[in-house]
Amino acid sequence: MRLVLVGAPGSGKGTQAELLVRRHGLKAIGTGDILRAAIRDNTPVGRQAEPILRQGRLVPDRIVNDLIAEVFRDPDQPAAFVLDGYPRTYAQAIAFDALLNLQFIKLDAVVHLAVKDDEVVRRIGSRRCCGGPNCGVCYNLLARPPKTDGICDRCGHPLIIRDDDREETVRRRLVEFHANTDQLIEHYRLRGLLREISALDPVETIHANILKAVNP
Ligand SMILES: [Zn+2]
Repeated sequence: MRLVLVGAPGSGKGTQAELLVRRHGLKAIGTGDILRAAIRDNTPVGRQAEPILRQGRLVPDRIVNDLIAEVFRDPDQPAAFVLDGYPRTYAQAIAFDALLNLQFIKLDAVVHLAVKDDEVVRRIGSRRCCGGPNCGVCYNLLARPPKTDGICDRCGHPLIIRDDDREETVRRRLVEFHANTDQLIEHYRLRGLLREISALDPVETIHANILKAVNP
């Protein structure tokens, strides 16, 4: 299986990538991990990326594309993989297509975990996390509420709304997501690779739907 997962924040993309790795032995390819490894191993691309990351800036497409290219040019290039977080933009998708062509690798599918913006806001907005010093457990008022309102089951500290989970923050990330991703999704639709799967189903149902979409 060779696939790309695309989904808005809160779509459960990370959870699905983990399941595919654990149950189907796919290699997870995410730019964050690769970037950290490249810096640790002091590769040429790692040396370029390190100061940019240190300054808290966004790593440019060219460097991200080079990092991914290193993975696929490797003699031990992964035979089965799930990409999570790459390609993130249309420009990255074009570069990725060229790389796969050069390496004679074909993607089986690009799976879009589809969820409406308002639903993302509702889901993330119902997240409450423990403010306790060594805890940080998160609850969801809709899906997994604490036993006592506003109190952590594990340590008894009050639950808080993290800044990342506030509606204005979530809306801003969604605007950024659409600006980056809508054209990428359309690109893969035109190439016949796109599979749309509802992100609203239970985790196991989504997992089964991904498998069905990849091997119909
Ligand atoms: Zn706690």
